[in-house]
Amino acid sequence: MYTDLAGKVAVVTGGSKGIGNAIARRLAEEKMAVVINYHSDREHAERTAEELKKAGGDAVAIQADVGSEEGIQALLDAAEKHFGGLDVWVNNAGMENRVPTHEMSLKEWEKVINVNLTGVFLGARAAINHFLKHQKKGNIINMSSVHERIPWPTFAHYAASKGGVKLFSETIALEYAKRGIRVNSIAPGAIETPINAEKFADPKQKQSTLDLIPINSIGKPEEVAAAAAWLASSESSYVTGTTLFVDGGMSLYSEFEEGKG
Ligand code: NAD
Repeated sequence: MYTDLAGKVAVVTGGSKGIGNAIARRLAEEKMAVVINYHSDREHAERTAEELKKAGGDAVAIQADVGSEEGIQALLDAAEKHFGGLDVWVNNAGMENRVPTHEMSLKEWEKVINVNLTGVFLGARAAINHFLKHQKKGNIINMSSVHERIPWPTFAHYAASKGGVKLFSETIALEYAKRGIRVNSIAPGAIETPINAEKFADPKQKQSTLDLIPINSIGKPEEVAAAAAWLASSESSYVTGTTLFVDGGMSLYSEFEEGKG
C-alpha cells in the first residue's frame, strides 16, 4: 500500500480490460478515486466501477476516444466533476495489428499512431494544463512497450508509436520537472491480455514468445499495475523521465544467453 495515494484522483485510459483494468483496480485498492475510460466495452467498464465501489472505492466509467480532443476533455471534466480534481493521469489505451509495412495503408498507420501516440500527447497536455492551472504537483504515466527499444517487423506503426512515446515522455518530463510534474513510461514485455489472447491461445506461438523471455513466463496485468502504483506514489518521488521495463528480461537480448555471440 502507498498511503499517500489515498483520496487522490486518477484517470486511466483504456481501463475496461487488460493492463488498464488492472491499473484501475490497483489504484482503487490504493484508495484513489478512478475515472475508468473505455472506448467501446461499456459493460465491462461499468461493471468494474460498480465492483470497485462495492469494495469501498470510488470509480466512474466514462466513454471517450483518446485520439480526440473532445474525448480527452470529457475525461478531465469527469475527474473534476465527480472527484474534484486530478492527481495522476495514466495514458494506457493502445492498439496493434500485424501488417507488413509495404502493404500498410495510410489509414492503418494513422489509426495506430492516433491512439498510441496522439492519444498520449492529448492526455498529457490535458493533465499538464490542469496541474499548471491548479499549481499542483502532478504525475503522468505513459504505457509504452519493449518496442520503444526493440524493432518489431510487421508492426512498424506500433513500434514507431512507442518510440515516439519514449521521447515524448522524456521531453515533457524535462519541460515540466521544475513545476513539480513527474512523467514516466512503463514498457511491458509480453503480458496476457485481450490484445494478444489469440496469439497465446496457440501453444506454438505462446512458446515462441516464451523463448524470448529469460524469466520464462508471460506477465500478468497485475504485475504492470504494481509498477504503475509505485510510479504514481511518492515512493518514486525522485524518478522522472525514465522508462520502467516490466518484461521478465525480454529487453536483455536473450539470444546472447550463455555466452553466445
Ligand atoms: P487491451 O487490448 O486489452 O487493452 C487496450 C485498451 O485500449 C482497451 O480497453 C481498448 O478499448 C482501449 N482503446 C483502444 N483504442 C482506444 C481509443 N481510441 N480510445 C480509448 N481507448 C482505446 O491491451 P493491453 O495489453 O491491456 O494494452 C494496454 C497498453 O499496454 C497498450 O498501450 C499496449 O500497447 C501496451 N502494451 C501491452 C503489452 C501486452 O503484451 N499486452 C505489451 C507492451 C505494451
